[in-house]
Amino acid sequence: MLEVSCSIFSKPEFLDFAMPIFKLRRLAPFLLVLPGLSLAEDYDILLKGGHVIDAKNDRNGVFDVAINDDRIAAVERSIPASQAGIVVDASGLYVTPGLIDLHVHVFWGTRDGNYLANSFNSLPPDGFTLQHGVTTAVDAGGPGWRNFELFKKQTIDTSKTRIKAFLNIVGAGMAGDPQEQDLYDMDARLTAMKAYEFPEYIVGIKLAHFKGPDWRPVKRAVEAGQWANIPVMIDFGRAQPTLSIKRLFLEELNPGDLFTHCFADAWGRESIVDRSGKLKPFVMEAIDRGIIMDVGHGGGSFRWNVATAALEQGMRPQTISTDLHTGSINAGMKNQLNVMSKLLNLGMSLEEVVEASTWNPAQVIKIEKELGHLSVGALADVAVLRRREGTFGFIDVARTRLDGKYLLECELTILDGEVVWDRNGMASPSWEEVDIPPSPGRPEVQQFIDPPK
Ligand SMILES: [Zn+2]
Repeated sequence: MLEVSCSIFSKPEFLDFAMPIFKLRRLAPFLLVLPGLSLAEDYDILLKGGHVIDAKNDRNGVFDVAINDDRIAAVERSIPASQAGIVVDASGLYVTPGLIDLHVHVFWGTRDGNYLANSFNSLPPDGFTLQHGVTTAVDAGGPGWRNFELFKKQTIDTSKTRIKAFLNIVGAGMAGDPQEQDLYDMDARLTAMKAYEFPEYIVGIKLAHFKGPDWRPVKRAVEAGQWANIPVMIDFGRAQPTLSIKRLFLEELNPGDLFTHCFADAWGRESIVDRSGKLKPFVMEAIDRGIIMDVGHGGGSFRWNVATAALEQGMRPQTISTDLHTGSINAGMKNQLNVMSKLLNLGMSLEEVVEASTWNPAQVIKIEKELGHLSVGALADVAVLRRREGTFGFIDVARTRLDGKYLLECELTILDGEVVWDRNGMASPSWEEVDIPPSPGRPEVQQFIDPPK
């Protein structure tokens, strides 16, 4: 027997699970009792009574947030529930701009052995972002100028998550070795040209994994970044001897450029703390100079000894990111909120971890006009978070545990004004209050059951 859920046949719109929630108003003729619902509301969605954290607008308190179509329509101390089609009770929860993860690997594909470019190791984003409040994810160097269009076709164009990219300085992208060691495929001019061609998506340049003790890859990435007027993200490789991060921060990079994996203690990369746990003195100088310290947790780049020491000595990462790929999601990293929770438990405030996952990354990749905040008129990307209190275990890349008191979880995610994640159905009416008419039938199915005479 054919089931209603069989996806190859079209189904009535009102049964489509992915239907934007604000279209519920179209169901009005079928709805019996849904408090606050009428066809004369001012807003599609109203998030009522949540604690808003919005660094750009200096908001840190209880506000109501109203959304109309794909925009933030109003943020007030109190907006009457009668003015909205969907009213969400957000009391006891935190309402933040949609989270921005600056370091993911989502150039998924089927090229076996191709590391993180068009490969099995990269992930299709929608299963790993929206349910954790992330509405914008930035691929960190998966594609280079040679395969960016393939990345756009396979990932950007097929994902609900808003996808941006740091374009790899290597033309072939993050395809593993030997490609990532090929200096002849690191062309600043061609990389910058591709960034010029796709300014909506290419928001930075990435250099990663180069093994030689050689500054030329850094110089080419910086040159491409300057040409295209976008920041550069550096993941030092496995150089022996290691390249000096003091020189990188103070001489090679420009203000606005990023050092990702800032809490790593990995072979071939100089750490920001010395063996005794002392934060190296030039790190704060680099931050003052405008160098961005990005977390980029990943499968090998977050150690308790480094993060604890750095935070205790006053250092703060400006941006919190995951380095999402198949090797990190089921290990210590897990997801954006787990990384934020770790830093919360290490002493950063909730306001700081939210700012480092919203307003700061938006400014770093220059999308702050419409994203990273909840200003009226901004794109309606919103996360509704719960801060649970109890005892929770967190794991670093050495698989050692830290017990923490807080765990952040995502209850609701809105992207472009559409509810794309709703853990407990808080934006949906009770099924007992909605009179959905019986299925009108499946004529396209019936023709296979009753062949034409
Ligand atoms: Zn990475």
